[in-house]
Amino acid sequence: MINSTLRLLDSDTEASNPVAAAVDWKLEAACRGQLALFFARKAERPEARARREAKAKRVCDDCPVFEECRTIARANCEYGYWAGESEEDRHVLGFRVTAPIGLRARLADQEKRENKSA
Ligand code: SF4
Repeated sequence: MINSTLRLLDSDTEASNPVAAAVDWKLEAACRGQLALFFARKAERPEARARREAKAKRVCDDCPVFEECRTIARANCEYGYWAGESEEDRHVLGFRVTAPIGLRARLADQEKRENKSA
């Protein structure tokens, strides 16, 4: 696996090796080393998630590979926060994941708030 990845990274151009180009965009990612900001912790509360994703969005807004990231995330129905979108955002847009993390908790929280105000 490592050897095949190194071979991909050694390739000269996107035209000669489109797979290498797909790997290369990640090297430019503004989020490198900030994994915890882009993926939910177990049992993360909706408010904490909203705060985390707002911080992640600010990183994405200045990212030089935003378009590549969004395309890959949507095409692969990824989990986590990619290019300004959570898996729930992508799910709503039609890039379906099996079980969007946080959706049930958010809906339950919303229902609880509506019941309090009624
Ligand atoms: S757009 Fe956001 S998630 Fe995608 S590579 Fe850039 S910083 Fe990371």
